[in-house]
Amino acid sequence: MTQDSDKLAILVVEDEEAIRRGLCDVLTYHGYEPTGTDNGEDGLREALTNRFALVILDLMLPVMSGLDVCEKLRATLPEQAILLLTARGSEEDIVTGFEKGADDYVTKPFAISELVARVSALLRRSGKTPRTEQACFAFGPWSVDASALRASCGDRSVDLSPRELAIVSMFVREESRIVSRRMLLQEVWGFANPEKIETRTVDMQIAKLRKKIDSDGSSPIETVRGAGYRYAAKLG
Ligand code: CA
Repeated sequence: MTQDSDKLAILVVEDEEAIRRGLCDVLTYHGYEPTGTDNGEDGLREALTNRFALVILDLMLPVMSGLDVCEKLRATLPEQAILLLTARGSEEDIVTGFEKGADDYVTKPFAISELVARVSALLRRSGKTPRTEQACFAFGPWSVDASALRASCGDRSVDLSPRELAIVSMFVREESRIVSRRMLLQEVWGFANPEKIETRTVDMQIAKLRKKIDSDGSSPIETVRGAGYRYAAKLG
């Protein structure tokens, strides 16, 4: 199997074809390189043969269950990031899944935005960061040097905290799509259940960031009423 060197490979083990295809499409859209398999045995073999940044694993699978795949995979590849797909209300499966070595889970039916947020948070936690967090990239009129935690624009230069860098990276990655406060809480703050967290935390952090990088009353970060924020690459 050949893979683009700059894309992260993700294995999707899911027997329901519509879900598998949908997941692969969404992951491709978000810049990942997905591979789909429809049963546990093939999934395990694929995961052990070709290294993946992340394995997304349905629990109810033919031939070999997701929990068995998870356990065997974890035994051979201790560093492998594993995300489980579980049915709603199956707390027991979730607990067992964590015991067998899963890193996180998403409950079906899931919102695409939640899944994507979990995937990128998990990849970030496992050190598989997108390239925007490793190199220089543009943020509006700013040039961001991620490794130095600095942004510069003309003769202005500001320091960024790791959290601010994570926020800026997320906006760039999401391009012009709306980034909800919940997505930010999940991905940047790492909260698994952000609905219980005060969204004011996000607003205060964004306000602080804007203070640093806004100029002449224009900001690369737009507020979208009732929804969240959006990256405005071009000011004006
Ligand atoms: Ca299934």
